[in-house]
Amino acid sequence: MGDPRIILKAGREKSLRHRHPWVFSGAIERVDGQPAMGDTVPVFAHDGGFLAHAGYCPQSQIRARVWSFDSSAVVDEAFLAGRVLASVKRRDGVRAGSTGARLVHGESDGLPGLVADRYGDVVVVQLLSAGAERWRELWARVLSEVEGVRHVYERSDVEVRALEGLPSRVGALVGGVPGPTLIVEDAISYEVDVAQGQKTGFYLDQRDNRALAGELAHGAQVLNAFCYTGGFTLAALKGGATHVVSVDTSADALEGGRRNLELNTFDAGRAEWIEADVFAQLRKFRDQGKQFDLIVLDPPKFAPTEKHVPNAARAYKDINLWAMKLLAPGGNLLTFSCSGAIGPEFFRKIVAGAAADSRVDLQVQRTLGASRDHAVSIHFPEGEYLKGLWLKAG
Ligand code: SAH
Repeated sequence: MGDPRIILKAGREKSLRHRHPWVFSGAIERVDGQPAMGDTVPVFAHDGGFLAHAGYCPQSQIRARVWSFDSSAVVDEAFLAGRVLASVKRRDGVRAGSTGARLVHGESDGLPGLVADRYGDVVVVQLLSAGAERWRELWARVLSEVEGVRHVYERSDVEVRALEGLPSRVGALVGGVPGPTLIVEDAISYEVDVAQGQKTGFYLDQRDNRALAGELAHGAQVLNAFCYTGGFTLAALKGGATHVVSVDTSADALEGGRRNLELNTFDAGRAEWIEADVFAQLRKFRDQGKQFDLIVLDPPKFAPTEKHVPNAARAYKDINLWAMKLLAPGGNLLTFSCSGAIGPEFFRKIVAGAAADSRVDLQVQRTLGASRDHAVSIHFPEGEYLKGLWLKAG
């Protein structure tokens, strides 16, 4: 049977030669030996040419994810620890001003399936592939050492793990279970509940866009739709908003938002929290004749996979249409999608459709994306899940 290795079908090596890090099951001619889940196996083209060393997953459509394109690389603890250190170092210049940051962004940092976020004294990790799962203890040890934190906590309670045949898993890897953790981002304090919160606890990817909202908020009536724990709300208050209405269906998220408001010194009278469905609430505001100078639309991932795209497109169009109708003359709309299955061009088309139906003249001031600690490899466009538009009403 020989050593484990993956041989691709003829002509299916192109994406790997272009340094895309995924080996799809349909591209594989045969798997020699019997590699176990998470094993590192070499991948060869049909003509026998070496392509990559990759972490194997016997059941995922993404059958293997590349650790290295270098034939002489030995993928061991030292190699992977080096990748983590490089990943942290790459962020040297972008962490100033915040005690929260993404440290490892999976494939884009050459570490497929590993996500690591720092919040104060805690690093939260998410393991999303069989290859990353294999090295759990290593990630925990290296990250706690390099960051000098007291806790490393795992939040691998995400649905994509099921595609890899991995169970949901949460728990302390280093130190005990951390309680609510404070971060300070651009002079605003936030409490992050890494154990109970959404995602790894906070939407670090929106940092730059929160700052933009702050710049646009001076003297403004603001609507923060899908507010979670009030990230954009606090940025707008700091920026001098006259009034900020924040809407979310989650009572826990709103409670977190109120706590975040208390942590800072903004006038609580300028903030209003509404527990409601945004789809219904936007229509209600319209009936009430409300208008806003700044609206932030940052919904959850409406399209977790391809098959959700048609419904998701309708949902994005609906909220954008109603938000546009609520814009005061000269008002700003910051609208986002974090659905990887909806690309930036398609998102722009959906928003354009909403603009046409709303009959509001809108100009694109700037296209928006995730903060720089979420930088995406040029070879891995799938990593660019967060996209947004800053629109201004004429
Ligand atoms: N803008 C936030 C992150 C938003 S995450 C930040 O920067 O921190 C998406 C939020 O939408 C979640 O808090 C979720 O509870 C909420 N949500 C999901 N569906 C909703 C709906 N139909 N109406 C209102 N809120 C909803």
